[in-house]
Amino acid sequence: MQIGQLVKTKSTFSDEGLSRKMIYCCEEHVDLALDMIVDEFETFPILSKLDVDNLSTNCEFCRNTAVYVVGNE
Ligand SMILES: [Zn+2]
Repeated sequence: MQIGQLVKTKSTFSDEGLSRKMIYCCEEHVDLALDMIVDEFETFPILSKLDVDNLSTNCEFCRNTAVYVVGNE
């Protein structure tokens, strides 16, 4: 699993941390998150819907509950 690695690199943003990114977002900001992945990594973003039991995460762009997670792989 990648979870431990994500936690470790979260506050440092090293070059290593840029190789994999996940953006949590609400329905309103999903387009923005997709654009960010495309701009930053020049790759097609992967869009996943969050599980119902994982709805305590907030959107990275507002205070709404995140519904989707957008990643670069
Ligand atoms: Zn939002």
